[in-house]
Amino acid sequence: MDIKITEELDNLLKDNGIKKEEIQEIIDNAESNGSKLEAIDGDLCIAKGCTDNLTMYAVYSPSELVDVYAHKMSILGLTGGELHDVEYDDSSDWKCVKCDEIALERNVDMTYMGVTRPGPGLVCPKCNEFYVSDGVAKTLKTAESILEEKRA
Ligand SMILES: [Zn+2]
Repeated sequence: MDIKITEELDNLLKDNGIKKEEIQEIIDNAESNGSKLEAIDGDLCIAKGCTDNLTMYAVYSPSELVDVYAHKMSILGLTGGELHDVEYDDSSDWKCVKCDEIALERNVDMTYMGVTRPGPGLVCPKCNEFYVSDGVAKTLKTAESILEEKRA
């Protein structure tokens, strides 16, 4: 699948230090193995890819890239350990395509520069894959800058 990237999105990629090829690869992987979230009431998908120091997300429709965001924090896992009781009242608007399960809104532990704190994530109850929404990624970016300034 050859994704269309508008000039606006291209600039956003550059701002985030992400290459077009990286985003294309993330989408190709997601399309081939189903490791992605799909909107329950639409045709948008979220795919995720990681490098050593960056977790990147691509939001896309069947024809074009819609949004891209990234965070440097690493997600350690669910806050409080494994998913024990699955309560469907905290289900999100996304489903894990691979498992055909609705992703749940759960706190996950995120760590950066030695500081770990919980933040909201989207978690598949079956494969335990974590995703972060666009809005949360923005908050993480702010938190990352604060930690970087403290260090500097
Ligand atoms: Zn899953």
